Amino acid sequence: MSETRRLAVVSNRLPIVLNRGDDEKWRITPGSGGLVTALGPVLRDRGGLWIGWLGANSDEFQDTSFLDELLSRGAEESGYALKPVDLSAEEVRKYYFGFSNEILWPLFHDLSGRCNFEPGYWEVYEAVNGKFAQAVAEHTSEDDYVWVHDYQLILVAEKLKQLGIRRNTGFFLHIPFPPLDLFIRLPWRFQILNALLQYDLLGFQTVRDRRNFIGCVRALTKGVKACGHGHVSRLVTLEREVRVGAFPISIDYGEFAGLASTPGVAERARTIRANLPNRRLMLGVDRLDYTKGIPDRLKAFVTALDRYPELRGAITLVQIVVPSRESIREYDLLKQEIERLVGEINGQYTDVGWTPVIYIFRSLHRADLVAYYRACEIALVTPLKDGMNLVAKEYCASNTRENGVLILSEFAGAAAQMHHGALLVNPYDVYGVARAIHDAFTMDLEERRTRMKSLRRSILRQDIFHWVNSFLGAGIARDLSSFPRMELFIPTSRGVRTALDGSSPP
Ligand code: UDP
Repeated sequence: MSETRRLAVVSNRLPIVLNRGDDEKWRITPGSGGLVTALGPVLRDRGGLWIGWLGANSDEFQDTSFLDELLSRGAEESGYALKPVDLSAEEVRKYYFGFSNEILWPLFHDLSGRCNFEPGYWEVYEAVNGKFAQAVAEHTSEDDYVWVHDYQLILVAEKLKQLGIRRNTGFFLHIPFPPLDLFIRLPWRFQILNALLQYDLLGFQTVRDRRNFIGCVRALTKGVKACGHGHVSRLVTLEREVRVGAFPISIDYGEFAGLASTPGVAERARTIRANLPNRRLMLGVDRLDYTKGIPDRLKAFVTALDRYPELRGAITLVQIVVPSRESIREYDLLKQEIERLVGEINGQYTDVGWTPVIYIFRSLHRADLVAYYRACEIALVTPLKDGMNLVAKEYCASNTRENGVLILSEFAGAAAQMHHGALLVNPYDVYGVARAIHDAFTMDLEERRTRMKSLRRSILRQDIFHWVNSFLGAGIARDLSSFPRMELFIPTSRGVRTALDGSSPP
């Protein structure tokens, strides 16, 4: 990386939260989460920048100079520049809720029956991607590295080229990439594939996603050759060469393990346990989303209570659901279905001193969430399809007593790394999940320890810093033979280390 080269991160949302207080004044809070924590130091290091939508309409601010002031204060706090892309309410509706979340999201999660292929969404998706490209053109130079994130922004590299702007670009897809027979249903399949091929580096969560992508390119694009094996391979098209890698995203292990060990969290975990005594606690934590398989999970839980009577009175499912995308009708219907199922299970089975399902519908503060991770002996993570699933990793990192059991869907990206220690299940197989609940409930301490230790070791080895290093190493190295020899100094919660220190590529 040349000394002058900066990193420009481009994502749908800026890593800040805008809130209006009781006094009607707007405030900016820096975002949290692994991605922000891991990218922050790299951005600060060379005066980098983050480009994204504010999450609010600029017409909500009567005075835009006030917004500039808020953003420069946010930049001072985070240590890097924040460049907002302004979107109208109509653009948000068609680009974000429409094309991104009614078409790409369900299709890429193998749920094409939920797609709404509304033709009017495409041109707004294109126009908004053009706006993001315009912002990249304005705020970066040819020396900078532009790292674009996720399915909302697939067209940015192509739009940059249409503007005549040359940049070294990387793209990471946080969600799965579907196999050919699903992808082919997309009315804009050629445009999407061709746009992805305009990046210099493409990153996917798993080897399977990368294989699906390469399969689609081979079937739908003329004259493409796939070359090379291993962590990063190459696709050579008639016009250009694109590198394609699998980079499983992760969490800040140190942060979760550290927080779980604090006296405050330990005390909170004890309180949770004391209020739900003499039973095993099993935890589900999900954003409200049909990909998370919450109704199927509740059906599996009630099936376990039916088939294994010894579980009655002896296990409680704590299901946390974080509100999300409620303005989409499907999500509202899903919420109603979950609440109906919880009501039915509790109505049928509750007894004096025992409620089978504790249902929490709100977002928790990090310390509270980690207290639940710590308090629960079993985690039930059963998405129908998931790019990665960070909850599975956070649960293990927070399980400092190393006695918990992780039940994990085969269809979560995390299964590729965690299959050795987790109990893998097919989330559609109600009897199979019920059996896994029973197996987790009866598993002896020694086996639980062996499994959990191995899970925690693998997350520690491949944490979020490792992920950033691997992607940037591949993105900025001159050629594959020099990969991944670059020196990025990344502070971690365990001190400072150099790129790819002590860890092998995923
Ligand atoms: N999470 C949160 N508050 C909560 C529950 C969960 O901030 O009350 C976070 C959790 O720590 C995790 C994220 O939400 O980092 C969920 O990530 P995951 O990859 O599991 O699913 P996604 O929501 O990205 O599809």
